[in-house]
Amino acid sequence: MRITLFGTRGSRPVSGPQYNCYGGDTTCAAVFANSQKTFILDAGTGICGLNQIGDKELYLLLTHLHWDHIQGLPFFEPAYNEDKHICIYGKANGKSVRGALENQHEQFNFPVPFTALKGIKDVLEFHPGEEIYDDGELSIDTLLQNHPSGGSVAYRFRERLADGDCATFVFSTDYELEGNWLDDRVAEFWDGADLVVADMHYEPQDSEREENKYKSGWGHSDYKSGIRLATVAEVKILVGTHFNPLSTDKYLTELESRMEKEAGRVAEQLGKAKVETGLAQPSQTHILPSQTYVI
Ligand SMILES: [Zn+2]
Ligand SMILES: [Zn+2]
Repeated sequence: MRITLFGTRGSRPVSGPQYNCYGGDTTCAAVFANSQKTFILDAGTGICGLNQIGDKELYLLLTHLHWDHIQGLPFFEPAYNEDKHICIYGKANGKSVRGALENQHEQFNFPVPFTALKGIKDVLEFHPGEEIYDDGELSIDTLLQNHPSGGSVAYRFRERLADGDCATFVFSTDYELEGNWLDDRVAEFWDGADLVVADMHYEPQDSEREENKYKSGWGHSDYKSGIRLATVAEVKILVGTHFNPLSTDKYLTELESRMEKEAGRVAEQLGKAKVETGLAQPSQTHILPSQTYVI
């Protein structure tokens, strides 16, 4: 499968020359399966990078309903195209997913009603922990993560390869570990993945840095806990996303080298293989995504 990142910013979109490299749009990624099926993860403003997508059938999987994960939907052109068949998946937790999306299109928020989105054929709710999709070639499992608003969902894609092996991709943003760095449920969910794209919104709790300081209870994570989890879970590649709007290219470039060092240190400490690390760099132009992973 191919994984492309279209929006990597957390909380709100940003623009300016200080964000050219790591992007300004809020969360969106796409998984292009070998079976030609396309799965979109979240509808932050990055989803506009997919406005020209030719697929008739699309799956849009929402991690949760915070603004930065749905605010691109009113500007997603395929959603207005009656010929498209878009199926939205979101977690059930007492708040209707359809209701939240409709609310975003109430006239006091946006001039066009949700009923105008003729390409959206279904809004389905599931309970995290369930497998939500399996077509024989690719399956998708879910996990409830600790995050305000009743939790967010992590998605695990497993694609069966011709040689009998599997390629595994996990999308795990907007989570805060409960109590300590090593949340067993998350480590188990990441186990053996070829690629994990994970929340790196804040500096670690033990960081002295004033910028980008960790805020308890705000539902986000950091590079140190991500690297520790990924090393324990024997993940091959760990990519950070959901950057704090305050994190400039300069800060994030420097963070990439801190991650590299930390990955080496943790691997040695735990006697495990070193995780390959990086930070997501989407396209700023919405034309040619600059970063695609093939696993
Ligand atoms: Zn978010
Ligand atoms: Zn959130």
